Amino acid sequence: MSDETKPSAGDSSGLSNGLVSDSDRRVYQAAQSLHSSSVKDLLSLGVCERCVFRLVSVEPFDSDLSSVSASTLRSWLEEASAAAAASSESSCSRVCIVCLGVLQFVFSDAKQTLARSECGSDYAARVTELVKREGHEFDSFGLEVSVPSTVVENERAVLLYLKGKYETEGWVQSEKISVKDALKVLVLDPLKASLGAKSDSSSFHIRLTYSMTSDEVQDASETTHERKKRKTDEENGSTSMSENSFEKVYEPCILSVNCNKMPIFFSGRYFKYSRNVSQTRWIIDDERMGEASVEELIGGNILPACLGDSYKFHAAGREDIDVRMLGSGRPFLIEVQNSRKCPSQQSLMEIEEKINNSEKKLVGVKDLKFIGSQCWAMMREGEAEKQKQYAALVWIARPLEEKDINSISSLIELKILQKTPVRVLHRRSPLERERTIHWMKVEKIKGSSHYFLLHLCTQAGTYIKEFVHGDLGRTSPSMGSILGCRAEIIQLDVTDVKMGDS
Ligand SMILES: [Zn+2]
Repeated sequence: MSDETKPSAGDSSGLSNGLVSDSDRRVYQAAQSLHSSSVKDLLSLGVCERCVFRLVSVEPFDSDLSSVSASTLRSWLEEASAAAAASSESSCSRVCIVCLGVLQFVFSDAKQTLARSECGSDYAARVTELVKREGHEFDSFGLEVSVPSTVVENERAVLLYLKGKYETEGWVQSEKISVKDALKVLVLDPLKASLGAKSDSSSFHIRLTYSMTSDEVQDASETTHERKKRKTDEENGSTSMSENSFEKVYEPCILSVNCNKMPIFFSGRYFKYSRNVSQTRWIIDDERMGEASVEELIGGNILPACLGDSYKFHAAGREDIDVRMLGSGRPFLIEVQNSRKCPSQQSLMEIEEKINNSEKKLVGVKDLKFIGSQCWAMMREGEAEKQKQYAALVWIARPLEEKDINSISSLIELKILQKTPVRVLHRRSPLERERTIHWMKVEKIKGSSHYFLLHLCTQAGTYIKEFVHGDLGRTSPSMGSILGCRAEIIQLDVTDVKMGDS
């Protein structure tokens, strides 16, 4: 809007006031057009210059107001409304009774140091400095603003006062822009310039949070009955709002600037070579189960590369701590919160190598890649997981016979009923579900009649250990019931996970 900065020579209005740019001239003229007695009223109540424009003008709130200093705005408003020029001490430096300094670009920082900016670009420079401290890489941002509820309440009170006093004026009825939206209008362009970034509904957000000092929060709670009275007055249609209601002197708000990056996701497949590594971090009564977890071995290597705050691990299905995950690996996602940078494919390959070449070889990773902020495709792939193949070392109470081998491998598409296993009842609800054992093959172990290798392919979600031992009759039929003797799994490996056949 303020791109054309050359003043047109013929225009005499306001030149004597030192108007150099077109935006100055526009604001100056807007000030002249405001309803003068309400401007005078609001200024004397302690409403700031930009709030006066916001509450009195019928024009859309203009970003030009950002580039004109508060003291200049005040002199124009005083001139336009023939208000007595207030002494400089009590006017511009006073915190606005409505916006509490937000639209005056006045705030305290975390260390209670007061910052006052003349115009939007000064303010944007301060915010930019705080944003840069967070160390994010970004080329676009979304801006969010939050203000204390006191601001909203003060605004209601002032609007009520105006409506009562200037009922017949057209401008009173028009919709007013809120303090937080007004701040966005004022500072968005200056922020884009100082951050060198676009503004859009980006995955990176800058949040400007204004809050009151703790003293005032307490103070505000003491005036609850005042607020109640105000509400009652409002309901009764009373317009008795008086200047007394606005005597309170406020301190500037505390501004905190937070940056937040939407979670980013990485996908891959993992292998678990150890029978003493859980899938996720597993701590019972402060004691770690297993020597490590897949979650930590992978996430712990990715997080530092993203300079993120934290991560979450999501896998397509799970296996028990003592079950290895082999074959083509199990798909997983790593979700990283508030990442400051995104590692290149090259550095992801290095992370993969680091995990795969670690000394203990507990887990392995392949196909590690960045998949952006959208993880749904990957999750769907996980849901489409249909079949799993296992290799189980099985022990039975009687010697294995040749006819057992034939009868087991002749069972194709065997339907079984499984009640939720006793061992997981504490975390899963009790259900009975039908599952399918697609096929089984027995591999004899030389010199052993009680032990054999069982290769089986089942529907995802089948409890394999329970299928073999029967879980006290809760899974039926079971390997035990088929062979007519006790059967147990000694060791189990997942050898393949097959996705949907689509
Ligand atoms: Zn204000």
